[in-house]
Amino acid sequence: MTIDIPHFKMLLQNERERLLRELAGLGHVNPANVSDWEATPEDRDTMRADKNEAADAVEEYESRAAVEVTLENHLQNITAALERIENNTYGVCRIGGEAIEEDRLEANPAATTCKAHLEE
Ligand SMILES: [Zn+2]
Repeated sequence: MTIDIPHFKMLLQNERERLLRELAGLGHVNPANVSDWEATPEDRDTMRADKNEAADAVEEYESRAAVEVTLENHLQNITAALERIENNTYGVCRIGGEAIEEDRLEANPAATTCKAHLEE
């Protein structure tokens, strides 16, 4: 059985676009490295009379940064999967070299291992 590459390529591209849109709402691309995104602090008046308000802003920035890192890691996995499609190595378990089950790819098109080698 051969896997439906164009189908998974479409899923990956859609996911990539969704992640890029989410990242664009959270931060900006590092000008020195276009694959690196950085969270930006919320655009507000930086002169703060109230210390609590400043602390809230720091906390909010930290949570945005954490979300940003998660999205960026996911984006890297998606990009790597698209590269595997280009290299004709998509859908191959990176541990055992066997074909990854199609339902596993359906659940996670960026999967790099078969079910037997699934790492938690
Ligand atoms: Zn395997």
